[in-house]
Amino acid sequence: MPQITIFWFRRDLRLEDNAGLFAALKDSAPVLPLFIFDREILDELNDPQDARVEFIHHAISGMHGQLQEMGAPMEVRYGKPSEIWPELLAEYDVKAVYTNRDYEPYARNRDSALQALLEERCIAWRDFKDHVIFDGNEVVKDDGTPYVVFTPYSRMWKRVLHEKMISTPQGEISYHFRSFPTEEHFDSFYRGEILPMIGLDEMGFSPSEITFPDKEVPRDLIREYDETRNFPAQRGTSRLGIHFRFGTISIREKARRAQRLNDTFLTELIWRDFYSMILQHFPHVAEGPFREKYSFIPWRNNEEEFAAWKEGRTGYPIVDAGMRELNATGFMHNRVRMIVASFLTKHLLIDWRWGEAYFAEKLLDFELASNNGGWQWAAGSGTDAAPYFRVFNPYSQQKKFDKNFQYIKKWVPEYQSVSYPEPIVDHKMARQRCLDTYKAGLAQADAALVK
Ligand code: FAD
Repeated sequence: MPQITIFWFRRDLRLEDNAGLFAALKDSAPVLPLFIFDREILDELNDPQDARVEFIHHAISGMHGQLQEMGAPMEVRYGKPSEIWPELLAEYDVKAVYTNRDYEPYARNRDSALQALLEERCIAWRDFKDHVIFDGNEVVKDDGTPYVVFTPYSRMWKRVLHEKMISTPQGEISYHFRSFPTEEHFDSFYRGEILPMIGLDEMGFSPSEITFPDKEVPRDLIREYDETRNFPAQRGTSRLGIHFRFGTISIREKARRAQRLNDTFLTELIWRDFYSMILQHFPHVAEGPFREKYSFIPWRNNEEEFAAWKEGRTGYPIVDAGMRELNATGFMHNRVRMIVASFLTKHLLIDWRWGEAYFAEKLLDFELASNNGGWQWAAGSGTDAAPYFRVFNPYSQQKKFDKNFQYIKKWVPEYQSVSYPEPIVDHKMARQRCLDTYKAGLAQADAALVK
């Protein structure tokens, strides 16, 4: 058995245009691909039909099959990385481990522990940027500190990209935007006995009823994105979230396309980079508010109201439609995510972390950085948050974005019948209660934090 390099897939589940895999194949053959179904994560999932596990399993099976055709094995393990890695290092003569970076706190701790183990054994570790266009300190203010407001960040993001593009030799696309022709180096995969692929059922999961969105999006949809993206009854957004989340598509390829076709769509991809950057620089957001003052808000946290929100029976049809769409499909339109999140935190005064956790359980495209960013934006505790006194009015949101009740009728067929519940809370009262509660909480914070 020769000395090998292991390439560890995590949130980059594709063989094509994969930055870390490209580097491994080019520089450090022979390469054995690895995926670990991580029990630290899977054991926490409540639903044995969690569609995300099925999605990952499908993506890994696809790669396993593609590699098998080349005579190249793929290691697919099930267990805890902290236990699996020592096993792998005992079974193989490993000279290096290559991977793409994962910026979530759990992943960073997991990777640090592995790096320490590899270092003890003089095995090289190399990680690459693949999940985002820019990471770390690539887009920072002139004084080197991270941005905390989106608009200047996005301006600088575009400037850095432009500068990097013109500073590369003519005709060559900058590293950040280029594609990595991984397939040119497929000869560098380790060849050996084909290894088995674990079944979904062997891990205690079974297929769901959910249909996953396509990887391909019609060109016209992207072209018209700025005009259609706010109307939940229309198919006006890409639905690519799950593919970005698990890396079944390349962010660089989609961003290049966005740059050609629609600037508003590109801006959405920059939001994704922005929240990833916030999580990298301010990991405390994963646990609590970005702005400390907001930890003083005295949430009401009424369990019955939370249940009504989750199940889509608040008596606010646009909120109920959104929650029912989420429960049935694992997707919710962005405009409606903003409305239901604002309703939970402001109208019901329920801690945004409760809503964040529910979305994490249900969303196919759940991504810690963007989910956390979206929730903190809604609660007013985040980076460039809307001021807390701007409380979304669910009725005017519906008039603007679902004026013919098309979306509502799809998800709440009993709306306007006797079986539809009365509003769980009066809008005017709830708005005033929210303003008073936030004001008092922030005043208390000011007093406490000055001491
Ligand atoms: P499109 O509108 O087609 O946008 C294309 C891509 O751009 C998206 O797939 C996504 O990767 C990125 N994007 C778009 N809007 C945002 C945004 N505001 N922030 C960050 N990235 C964005 N997005 C997630 O990917 N995962 C989440 O867990 C998540 N949770 C959210 C929670 C709340 C409370 C809110 C308000 C927003 C959340 N978003 C999240 C952002 C956004 O709602 C989704 O990315 C979008 O609705 C996904 O649908 P799409 O793929 O059709 O997006």
